[in-house]
Amino acid sequence: MASAAAAPGPIPIELLPVGLTEQSRGSRARPPRHLADLDPAGRRAAVAERGLPGYRADQLSRHYFSRLTEDPADMTDLPAGLRAGLAAALLPPLLTAQRELECDGGTTRKTLWRAFDGAFVESVLMRYPDRVTMCVSSQAGCGMACPFCATGQAGLTRNLSAAEIVTQVFAGARTMASGAVPGGRSRVSNVVFMGMGEPLANYSSVLTAVRRITDPAPAGLGISQRAVTVSTVGLVPAIKKLTAEGLSVRLAVSLHAPDDELRNELVPVNRRWQVAEVLDAAWGYAAATGRRVSIEYAMIRGINDQAWRADLLASLLAGRLAHVNLIPLNPTPGSKWTASDPAVADEFLGRLATRGIPVTVRDTRGTQIDGACGQLAAATSPA
Ligand code: SAH
Repeated sequence: MASAAAAPGPIPIELLPVGLTEQSRGSRARPPRHLADLDPAGRRAAVAERGLPGYRADQLSRHYFSRLTEDPADMTDLPAGLRAGLAAALLPPLLTAQRELECDGGTTRKTLWRAFDGAFVESVLMRYPDRVTMCVSSQAGCGMACPFCATGQAGLTRNLSAAEIVTQVFAGARTMASGAVPGGRSRVSNVVFMGMGEPLANYSSVLTAVRRITDPAPAGLGISQRAVTVSTVGLVPAIKKLTAEGLSVRLAVSLHAPDDELRNELVPVNRRWQVAEVLDAAWGYAAATGRRVSIEYAMIRGINDQAWRADLLASLLAGRLAHVNLIPLNPTPGSKWTASDPAVADEFLGRLATRGIPVTVRDTRGTQIDGACGQLAAATSPA
């Protein structure tokens, strides 16, 4: 692949068009600061601002990250006179559940959240026999405008703060600990940044959230880095930045087409970073982490499911540390597209498999509650 040599070099984040940047837009108020935005040193500094010793921050961290409580009344190791003030300062309510929908006998649950400024986001908790996955949103809306994805249709409202992201996992962890999900009490084992938004367009908050999710308790929620997946449309400079972080989270790339002509249409940001460049960045990530990159491919009838595209995809991935996840297209309002015919999808999968490319079909959950991939559109479906 000659792309690395031909590429003009990384484009600085500041030069990205609006919708791809981390800049806050206009004079929007920031979400209140929360314990989960801060590392342990930052938490101690925050309690010091209130004239309190550092160990008060550690106590608060244990309540939140280890015991999963944010109720001051439960914090009996803190003097009663301090509890409410500390909680108000460091555990402000960030997201309020507006509506919960469930399916799969209660093992898939979608929550619609309302943020402090009225922005809506959604998260989905999925219990499987061997794991519990929390799918979180990183932005309210999304600026990537992929035509087959419901989230992309309304555009970007704003980036979420790190704590707004962590809060979604915290809520899932509490739900699992409560025993409300059939199958008994458990924990959240996996987190996927596959809800609303483009995580790498909200880089610093997502990185902070990843650290809070994976730092051992009580610094964070103690979920394994290897069990966290960051999914991206392919923002090359941000993939390179992530590569340099030294994390071992899984990277997923939403490819959906092996050729630029079609990918320009399905994933418009491809006009900026084309297939070869995106894959080069992905292989850089794989080399640095030793982890297989997950290549996401929504199967769209008559659009990207031809045998020649399977063969082209196989040739791009041959010998690479990659795994293909085929996702039958989920229906979205107003979309003219539908899922591939199962026989065609089988043929596509078979062609990849025969060429030695690891490939699976995603067991997509939550279609009945519009909670599956590409169906999260909270902003257009208020309670
Ligand atoms: N913006 C990131 C994170 C969202 S992940 C990304 O695109 O990777 C959501 C995944 O579901 C992506 O792979 C996305 O391309 C895919 N998806 C979007 N709409 C879909 C649909 N209608 N059916 C199936 N998958 C879809």
